[in-house]
Amino acid sequence: MAEDLDSFDIALKQLEKAAKVMKLDNEALEILREPQQILQVSLPVKMDNGKVKVFKGFRVHYNNARGPTKGGIRFHPDETLSTVKALSAWMTWKTAVVDIPLGGAKGGVICNPKELSVGELERLSRAYVRAFADFIGPEIDVPAPDVYTTPQIMAWMMDEYETIKRVSAPGVITGKPLTLGGSAGRGDATAKGGMYVLKVGAKKKGIDLSKATVAVQGFGNAGQFAMTLVKEHFGSKVVAISDTKGGIYSEKGLNFDEILKHKQKTGSVQGLPGTKNISNEELLELGVDVLIPAAIENQITSKNASKIKAKIVLELANGPTTPEADEILHKNNVLVLPDFLANAGGVTVSYFEWVQNVGGYYWTREEVYEKLDKKMTVAAEAVLSTAEKFKTDPRTGAYVISIQRVADAMKARGWY
Ligand code: GLU
Repeated sequence: MAEDLDSFDIALKQLEKAAKVMKLDNEALEILREPQQILQVSLPVKMDNGKVKVFKGFRVHYNNARGPTKGGIRFHPDETLSTVKALSAWMTWKTAVVDIPLGGAKGGVICNPKELSVGELERLSRAYVRAFADFIGPEIDVPAPDVYTTPQIMAWMMDEYETIKRVSAPGVITGKPLTLGGSAGRGDATAKGGMYVLKVGAKKKGIDLSKATVAVQGFGNAGQFAMTLVKEHFGSKVVAISDTKGGIYSEKGLNFDEILKHKQKTGSVQGLPGTKNISNEELLELGVDVLIPAAIENQITSKNASKIKAKIVLELANGPTTPEADEILHKNNVLVLPDFLANAGGVTVSYFEWVQNVGGYYWTREEVYEKLDKKMTVAAEAVLSTAEKFKTDPRTGAYVISIQRVADAMKARGWY
């Protein structure tokens, strides 16, 4: 039978596996199998040519037992309700594993931002907030950036919200520009958080990161910062990187500034002099020490999992590995540092941003990094020791911790 790649089916499969391992109460599991609220809207937007185009938008609140729901908004041509539901579930486990007092949510719009002008993008962003103005709020549900959404988009969204509500409410959205109450350190927070997790994982595997080779799939926010930070933190050598069009490889190691310049000039990382073009598939199968998927879902599947040669997979993307692939990697002794742990740095600094907005008192970059390091390191160590205790893989170990925290909150509220 072909592998089921439906994102929400995958999220449920992961949840059920962990529920079994930890012998979760059946009623708690029933609640956790469904999102609490789903809102789907149509967003008519005036395009530059004067014609109206209608976009489909979603926002899903998965679980708010631990606090207001939290999660990004993706602008992506392949967005579906199923992916948004899955991502909202993963946000629930993400906020729980790093133990911040928030629940999980996610939003999305089916669109291709690469084909929109700046004006069209602004009108779409504002239309999204008008449609969801009563569904979000600093004490209800707090969006943030994700794939193809940026601090500028967060700024327009905050402005639209404040205009509708006639209040100052910087805590309605995170990932804002610094000038509008964004937090120092939010820009590279996802990759930075991943570095603290990688350090714990490498120690466990006995890998000296200063001598390690690294391949990064993806050239978005997480991928770009991962490439520079892994060098800066540990002195590791990045030998491969890719974007949606394909990747490049150099045994000697890649230079970030050169790649960025080339990409800005040509629209692609491929073709950089002194490097070899490779496909995204080839990148995943390289004989490196650390593989960092930092793009989108379903990249490591039952088809290619047995060909992965990396010793550690640091999942900065959400949902890059399917459950079937997980089993294979675990059997082959590949340490998978699972997405909702590995990329939780983003939402953790979003939480710091929200705390600063609500308190009206701002921290330095050093303070943010120090607090982030503590959160991520404690969480990563707990995940690996829980996996060991339950004789399972790290993803399931992470689920056990998160599910327990959410279930405890639901129990205390009297939901079951
Ligand atoms: N979109 C990011 C994630 O998937 C960040 C979410 C947030 O900051 O709320 O974790």
